[in-house]
Amino acid sequence: MPEREFGCLIGGEWVEGEEELLVLSPYDDSEVGRVLIPAEIDVDELRKHAKEGLKRWRERRTHELREALEEAARLVRKREKELARLIALEGGKPIREARFEVRRTAEVLRLCAGEAERLWGETLPGDAQPGRVSELILTVREPVGVVLSITPYNFPLMLPAHKLGPALAARCSVVHKPASETPLSSLRLAELLLDAGVDERAVQVVVGPGGELGERLARSDFDALSFTGSREVGERLLRISPIPRKTLELGGNDPVIVDETVEDLERVAEEVVRGACSHAGQVCIAVERAIVVEDAYEEFVEAAARAAESLRVGNPLDERTDVGPLLNDRALRKVMRHVEDAVERGAEVVTGGEPRERRLLPPTVLADVPEDALVAREETFGPVLPVLRVEDFDEALRAANATEYGLHAAVFTNRLDRAVRAARELEAGGVIINGVTNYRVDYMPFGGVKASGVGREGVPWAVREFTEEKTIVLGRGSS
Ligand code: NAP
Repeated sequence: MPEREFGCLIGGEWVEGEEELLVLSPYDDSEVGRVLIPAEIDVDELRKHAKEGLKRWRERRTHELREALEEAARLVRKREKELARLIALEGGKPIREARFEVRRTAEVLRLCAGEAERLWGETLPGDAQPGRVSELILTVREPVGVVLSITPYNFPLMLPAHKLGPALAARCSVVHKPASETPLSSLRLAELLLDAGVDERAVQVVVGPGGELGERLARSDFDALSFTGSREVGERLLRISPIPRKTLELGGNDPVIVDETVEDLERVAEEVVRGACSHAGQVCIAVERAIVVEDAYEEFVEAAARAAESLRVGNPLDERTDVGPLLNDRALRKVMRHVEDAVERGAEVVTGGEPRERRLLPPTVLADVPEDALVAREETFGPVLPVLRVEDFDEALRAANATEYGLHAAVFTNRLDRAVRAARELEAGGVIINGVTNYRVDYMPFGGVKASGVGREGVPWAVREFTEEKTIVLGRGSS
């Protein structure tokens, strides 16, 4: 029995078509729900509705926007159980992590409600330049227009909220396309936004293949594109999309440095392993590499193996599960290719490394991984911790930066001078000192450098991306 059946949300109507997209559980292939997709999704029609939605939404009073977003946050919180189950079923995320995602989603919407009230401008004197008179100069922030949002599978509720919420707070309207593997959470979120009082044309949600529908949307003339997903697709969108404003949140290859001054290696190794394995490693800021200084190496690897073996692998709906399945067979094949390549290049499998039934891979620790192994160079997106051995801290910084990516980077050290050096020298959008790379609060700026993306999210930053500053000069009149 499927959990839910949806159409697409177009022009304020739930439109059901002939094409059926079955959403299957990555854990046991059971049917979670289905989306009935219209045969022809007309992008011009979506834009027309979105323009109408924009006109109506931007005329709403500020307190109405705030109240609608606050109510959306409340509705999400109230439905924590139902939404967490949906996330766990369609994406395979362990239920405890799924509940955390729901709570974060409610927080994102609450923060957006606050931002909707703070679309403030500035005042400047006109006579700071010699020869000018003292006209008053004001700035106001206006919505950029219609936002196109495209999201990946791994946070199917929270990442859409990180786009829809700020766009609505900025008084924009949105056309949203979720990942085809996990569209149900987005569709349910849209229902709740409408229930909360968001204008029915300000949010539209369409479902379809990225390579076809996603591409047609991205080639169209929306006013802003907010994309989260893989580097490959992000780089393609950069090339083909005429949309003038683009935020691209892409993949990572996040390193964690552990040096020989760390006292409690057992605790640090445990944290690093959890950082590599939460949501089976399918997190953009997951720990993708541990870079460990020689004098701490053996002890770290042993502790990491113990930590990995203590994690429970299994059914995402089971409260005791720490590590669920990978999304699909393709994802598992990619992870296994990375593991096999590392072994061929001389790495040792300390624990894990063999898939169990279906798409479950037990947490895997690889030791003595060379820097040129795929698992050290590319985003693996699986529950695998490659541990690289380096001579000293200088080497560790060099190895950490030897990647095309730059999302987050982290360092565990007891020396302040090294922490400061790491903060300054690591090439990443965010550096975490004495913590792992998977750190994000929803009001901090978030995004990458190098191949990890363009622009910043995080509620206030996203709202800024979706607004344009207008300057108004108040003259003194002619009388
Ligand atoms: P993906 O394959 O790039 O898909 C992301 C979205 O793009 C999906 O909605 C997909 O639709 C769509 N898409 C695919 N091809 C497209 C095209 N040619 N034109 C327009 N849209 C297209 O990524 P994923 O596998 O779902 O997600 C995992 C990736 O996302 C990882 O690399 C991860 O690091 C990254 N990620 C980054 C962040 C961050 O904030 N930096 C956060 C989470 C995830 P279909 O599903 O229909 O193919």
